[in-house]
Amino acid sequence: MSVKAVLALGSNLGERSDTLSHAVADLVDTPRVRLCAVSPVVQTKSVGGPADQPDYLNMVIEVETDLGPWELLAHCQAVENKHHRTREVRWGPRTLDVDIITYGDLTMDEPTLTIPHPRAHERAFVLQPWAWMDSHATLAGVPVGELAAAAEDLDGLAPFEPGR
Ligand code: ADP
Ligand code: MG
Repeated sequence: MSVKAVLALGSNLGERSDTLSHAVADLVDTPRVRLCAVSPVVQTKSVGGPADQPDYLNMVIEVETDLGPWELLAHCQAVENKHHRTREVRWGPRTLDVDIITYGDLTMDEPTLTIPHPRAHERAFVLQPWAWMDSHATLAGVPVGELAAAAEDLDGLAPFEPGR
């Protein structure tokens, strides 16, 4: 059985744009995870964590997968690790963060895997690219574009224009 899932990617260290492109390729470099849709990349001010972090690049993708939710989490973490993600500071700078936003209609609430992602509904850097990717998408029954418009961090977000 295959399920559609939405994954959010973020990077604020190193060659951020290249990291995101390679990470998307790595995430779908198995027949068990197929790429369905890719959002535009946005540049965002970091939210929470240490002050004065570099800006993030963020995007979301939609995949179709026959991995279970835990297998998908392990797969996402393997791709993070491949890109030398370090976890010294919580919410600190990172070369790559990959989060599971939704997994079909599944809801689960374990400390190591909460689906839908517990902060997705308030993060413009997830919601706005998601709305651009899929104008019909909803989260807990609410259009993601509406959630994005209400998110506090929307002001800090802009489409990423390479070279500027
Ligand atoms: P964050 O993404 O909140 O900045 P991390 O990437 O360091 O923080 O994730 C910390 C932990 O969050 C992971 O080890 C993972 O087990 C857990 N986690 C819980 N729910 C999810 C989810 N939906 N997607 C990804 N990780 C999750
Ligand atoms: Mg994460």
